[in-house]
Formats: sequence, structure tokens, C-alpha cells
Amino acid sequence: MHCWGNLDFAAPRKIVRPVSRAAALPSEPLLLARGNGRSYGDVCVNSDGTLIDMRGLDRFIAFDAQQGVLRAEAGVLLADILALIVPHGWFLPVTPGTRFITLGGAIANDVHGKNHHREGTFGRHVRGFELLRSDGQRLQCSPDDNAELFAATVGGLGLTGLMSWAEISLRPIHGPAIYQRQQRFRSLHEFFELNRQAEIESEHAVAWIDCLSANPRGILIAGDHCAGEVSVPSKKTLRVPLTPPFSPVNRATLGAFNQAYFHRPLAQGRVHYAPFFYPLDGILDWNRLYGRAGFFQYQCVLPEGSDALAEILRVIARSGEGSLLAVLKTFGTITSPGLLSFPMPGANLALDFPHRGATSSRLFERLDAVVAAAGGRLYPAKDARMPPALFRSGYPALERFCKFVDPAFSSSFWRRVMEQS
Ligand SMILES: Cc1cc2nc3c(=O)[nH]c(=O)nc-3n(C[C@H](O)[C@H](O)[C@H](O)COP(=O)(O)OP(=O)(O)OC[C@H]3O[C@@H](n4cnc5c(N)ncnc54)[C@H](O)[C@@H]3O)c2cc1C
Repeated sequence: MHCWGNLDFAAPRKIVRPVSRAAALPSEPLLLARGNGRSYGDVCVNSDGTLIDMRGLDRFIAFDAQQGVLRAEAGVLLADILALIVPHGWFLPVTPGTRFITLGGAIANDVHGKNHHREGTFGRHVRGFELLRSDGQRLQCSPDDNAELFAATVGGLGLTGLMSWAEISLRPIHGPAIYQRQQRFRSLHEFFELNRQAEIESEHAVAWIDCLSANPRGILIAGDHCAGEVSVPSKKTLRVPLTPPFSPVNRATLGAFNQAYFHRPLAQGRVHYAPFFYPLDGILDWNRLYGRAGFFQYQCVLPEGSDALAEILRVIARSGEGSLLAVLKTFGTITSPGLLSFPMPGANLALDFPHRGATSSRLFERLDAVVAAAGGRLYPAKDARMPPALFRSGYPALERFCKFVDPAFSSSFWRRVMEQS
């Protein structure tokens, strides 16, 4: 079982797959729940420990189509939730860039979408869940009951115990259509101007950025749920059939792609929600494109008003490294519900980098220094290498969080950032 970045981690000692919510936790140390393994690095890895594969718990429990409330087992995929709720006029209140993640994984990383400025994180829409602890307790947690444990578990990286089911509030929609608008920008100043306006007018806003351009440029994409017909995308998906020995993503291929992508005709009008929210889900196993050594994602948030974003983009452009899909969006001021939730007000940048050993490490160290100096943080869901000091400085509630960690739970990420510091 790999993480999404295809990085080389030692295997778990054992994998168990519960199929009933009534099942007890294995009575062993070093437990970790795993959702669908869509985290890029080691938050979903438990080398030499016991991995609890949650995909066996994938049933719906209750759906109130009048009120828009859904209760489901934690291993249900967001894709299956959408298939159930969209025909009834409901949507996920917050969705990440893939629908192939589980409900439990969405809560444990307190994921965000393109509408953070309006709706905050996924955890804000969680009404409650059941948490199994290694001492045998089954606790009902919600913003009102066991509220501190709720706050520790939302964004808690699977370390506070195992969620067996969860209940979420949904968002009403007219149908599967999104009205989207796209605009080019040719500087960071222009991005922030267009983005400010887009966030006033639209629920969803995100930008693609050309990470090699010395003067940042990109395309801002805004969208809103709307009424009207749209054709359902074909069920046929492309697949990357094999992993090439080396990544074909390099300065030359990236430069050519970015030039063509920036100048492509802009889209405007109604589209199905799938290509709008989940463009990468249309290419199965796209993560193989980065070659056998795998890849890292560097995702950081930088506080509002700092010059750090410009500096980070300068360092990346000079390095000639980066990804076809580089994403820039701003997080709004809605407080995240989890003690370790990643989003905070500021600019959020995410890029993939092929694993090139020491060259990659040197680049990340330079980026880390900028993030730390600006008071920013990295996203554990995408991380496989952040130094312990950066984790500690980025997450000031870490000490409070540690009190809620279940003593039998751990992950390769947790051991890396805590025990070896
Ligand atoms: C193409 C792509 C796009 C993405 N876009 C975004 C985005 O826009 N925004 C964003 O925030 N993230 C994004 N992500 C990251 C992804 O949403 C998160 O990593 C998510 O948590 C993965 O969920 P999963 O079910 O695969 O869980 P895993 O990756 O398997 O596990 C994630 C964490 O959840 C814990 N966990 C899982 N199930 C349970 C449970 N039942 N009880 C307790 N803990 C549990 C695990 O222990 C682990 O710590 C993206 C990932 C991909 C591949």
C-alpha cells in the first residue's frame, strides 16, 4: 500500500479490514486507520504498525433528503455520497480536488475546497461522529458533546482513535451544473485583484499558476452551482498504464505545457460539476507520471499581507522544477474547527515535484525557510518530509492536541515529526 506520492515507505506489519461497525479495535500498539490512501505522504502510512483499512466500512446509515443530512460509515467514498445525493438536489458543502477519498479521511485532514472563503473547511459541516478509542470506549463526538475531542479529531490525522461513522450537513443545489468563468492574470497583484472580486461574486474560486514564469501568470477559475441541463461526462476514463522509470516532467516539457495552457481558449458557461471540481479524477493513476521514485507535493499557506508568496514563486521559477498543475487560492477568515486544521487566512499554494533526491531536498529547504520566516505552515495531508521544527512552529495548538492522542495510535508521519525531533 503506497501513499499517493508513490514514495518508498516500509510496509505495515499487518493490515486488518473491519466490515462491521461493531468490530472492536485490534488490541495492539501502533494502530492507524487508513481511508483511500489519497494523502500524498505518510499521514496514511504506518510502517511496521497495524493499518486498519476502512474501505470495508462503506455503507450509508441514514439520508434525510428533506433536511440534507447524511450519516454514513467512515469508509464511504465522497464519489458514492455524490452519486446518492446529487439526484436529490444536495451537494457536499466542501469538497477537495478528488472525490476518491473517504468520509473519515476528509474529517481527519479537515480538507478544504475552492469555497473556503464562504464555507470554511469540511469539519465545519460535520454534525458528529463515533470515535473508537483503544481503551474500548465508543464516544459520540460533536461540536457540543465531547467537544474538545471533536476539535482534536477534526484535522487530527487519525491519531485520536478511529471514526466508525460520521454525520454531515449537505448543501442544496439546483442540479449537477456549475456556471464557470475563467480569467487570465499576469502578475500576483492582478491575481489578488481578480480573486478578491471573484470571492465576492462566486462560491468557488481557484487559480492555475505557471510555476516557471519569472513574472507570475495564470488563470483564475470561478464558479457557482446553477440550474440547467449539462451533459454527464463520459464514464470512460484515461489511465496512465505504467510508471516510467524517470519522470517526463522536466523544465522543457513543463515550459511547453505551461505556455500552451496559459494561452488556451478560456471557458465560460455551464459545465458538469465533475470536470469543474475533479479534473484529475478523469485520468486514473496520474500519479505514475512522476516516475518510479515518486513525487512530493509542497503545499503551504502564507499569512495575508506577507511577501513570502512572491519569494516562494521566485525560488521555484529559478529552480526550473514544478508541476503541470500548480494551484493558488486564498483561504478566508472562517476559523477552522480542528486544533491541527491546516487552513488559516492567507495564500495557499500547492505544487508537485518529482523526487530528485538531494536536488529536491535543497529546494524544499529554501522554501521551508521562507514559509517559517513568514509564519506559514505546510499541509500534513500532502507532506512526506517537513522538518519537525516547521511542524511545531506552524501548529501552535500542537501541545493541546497531544493530550487527545490515543496512546495506541500513531503513524509514520507522527513518528517522523514528533519522536525523532
Ligand atoms: C488529486 C487530489 C486532489 C486533492 N485535493 C485536495 C484539496 O483540494 N483539498 C484538500 O484538503 N485535500 C486535497 N487532497 C488530499 C486529500 O483530500 C486528503 O489527503 C484526504 O484526507 C485523503 O482521504 P483518504 O480517505 O484517502 O484518507 P487517507 O489518505 O487514507 O488517510 C488520511 C488521514 O485520515 C485518517 N483516517 C482515515 N480514515 C479514518 C477514520 N475512519 N478514522 C480516523 N482517521 C481516519 C488516516 O489515519 C490519515 O491520517 C487531494 C488529494 C488528491 C489525490
